[in-house]
Amino acid sequence: MTMAPLKKPEPLKISCTMTDCDNDLHCFKATQKMPTVDRGKCRACNADLVDWSRVHMRAIGDAAYTFEALKRETIRHHFFHVPIDQKAINYARRKGRKKLKEAIRARIEKSIGPAVPSWDGRQTPMKDNPIFYGQHATATCCRTCLAYWHAIPKGERLTHGQIDYCVDLLELFFDERMPDLSEDPVHVPRNRK
Ligand SMILES: [Zn+2]
Ligand SMILES: [Zn+2]
Repeated sequence: MTMAPLKKPEPLKISCTMTDCDNDLHCFKATQKMPTVDRGKCRACNADLVDWSRVHMRAIGDAAYTFEALKRETIRHHFFHVPIDQKAINYARRKGRKKLKEAIRARIEKSIGPAVPSWDGRQTPMKDNPIFYGQHATATCCRTCLAYWHAIPKGERLTHGQIDYCVDLLELFFDERMPDLSEDPVHVPRNRK
């Protein structure tokens, strides 16, 4: 394991619509009054940076492009780069890759699987579980993000194929963020305060 213990990070103050356009970090979530032609561009600076027809194909073989595009959005970029908190790292290590994959699937089904999930938009916390980091990074955190990033319409239960795609994205997220995670569970003692 090369994952060094991390200091407790500052509380996250990131929001979905945050932009930092001067640093090439944008928000592609359309505003209510945005004309159709501008949808998909940054809501703050109008930058047109994502090939949406390509991302919307949901081709896992093209996930490298999808990840590149996701990282142009401030909130996704944050979760692709922020240190993962210790509690979340421990969670992943205690599971190992194989069990983690099952947990990812269960979490996707529960949080965004239903046609109308409860608390949609607020169902995915920002810390304590690495799957939450992955969901914000890959825009599988709520049905709004899933709709504009992955062209999966709201109001319908996710299909098996759509769930598989989300799980695959999360697995690639873990390949990138926690490449040293072992296949099998590791004993991690409880943290005593
Ligand atoms: Zn912008
Ligand atoms: Zn979301």
